[in-house]
Amino acid sequence: MHHLLERQYKKFSKDGQAISPELENFLKTVSTTYENNDTDRNLLEHSFSVSSKEFSELNGKILKLLQELEVEKRSVEQKIIERTQELTVANDRLTELDKVKTEFISVAAHQLRTPLSAIKWTLSLLIDEGVKNLTSEQRSLLMKGYESNERIIRLINEMLIVTRIESGKMSYSFSFIHIEDLIDSCLEDFIGQAKTRNINLSFSEPASRLPYVNMDPDKIRTVLQNLIENAVFYTRDNGSITVSAKLEDNHIKVFVKDDGIGIPEKQKIGIFSKFYRADNALKARTDGSGLGLFVAKSIIEKHKGEIGFESKEGEGTTFYFTIPCAQEGKVL
Ligand code: ADP
Repeated sequence: MHHLLERQYKKFSKDGQAISPELENFLKTVSTTYENNDTDRNLLEHSFSVSSKEFSELNGKILKLLQELEVEKRSVEQKIIERTQELTVANDRLTELDKVKTEFISVAAHQLRTPLSAIKWTLSLLIDEGVKNLTSEQRSLLMKGYESNERIIRLINEMLIVTRIESGKMSYSFSFIHIEDLIDSCLEDFIGQAKTRNINLSFSEPASRLPYVNMDPDKIRTVLQNLIENAVFYTRDNGSITVSAKLEDNHIKVFVKDDGIGIPEKQKIGIFSKFYRADNALKARTDGSGLGLFVAKSIIEKHKGEIGFESKEGEGTTFYFTIPCAQEGKVL
């Protein structure tokens, strides 16, 4: 009999009292229940003690892991700080090198301009004044020399503009101008060139005078020249180029439309980048620098305008730019 039950039984039974078979059976059942209860309790206590041991071990492991993570985090943070410092130093060095490169190009370009101007002057004297007894072959060679010299001068001028843009030294002088007058005078520069290739170059003037625009006329002239020059270069003989201008959303919008070689779809993305030239343009014009549109974009952005284009390879291209119609007296 279970000891607890035995104690209870002794407490309440009378000495020497015989146990009936029913009572004996009942006591056996109760005793078994007591014993089962003991086993369950022992099991429960055991599993509690095991679980709490495991739990405290797990807790210890988690704490250790957290400490290791903290150490790792600090080391990563330190590495990031070191890398950032290295990158800052490298970036400063690159900026410095870029400045030196820009200064070098600027000095070299200025130094080259003087002898090139002398060559230009000498060649033009030989051609214009007409050196006696020049054969047509000699004249044509002189012409080629003159044209190549012109190309180098143009390239150097473009590079000087680019160095000025990149060093932030491009100075602007704004005044209120009628864009139509500027377009008219720009087109005059290209009439001869267009005529020799039978290209129809025209200005589709707006029905009424457009408002004055606050702009740097010399810089906008450069933009127009670059766009019209491209249109002439990338248009086939007997082609057509139309320049037009209109008022749109309080902006002057100028278009230069040609029916030339167009720009291949895949190459449109880089068109305004420095020195970028599309494949078909490389064939059409060997002397391009890939700087004209970069310069144009920078100038138009300085005027708080936009420049863009639409083009279909083999069908033609339309470049456009906008300039806001600012109030007179308001500085851009
Ligand atoms: P580039 O000196 O080569 O003309 P630009 O910067 O003026 O340099 O133009 C960059 C490139 O854009 C050109 O090489 C050509 O691929 C493309 N492009 C510009 N204008 C036209 C045009 N009217 N028609 C076709 N392609 C053009």
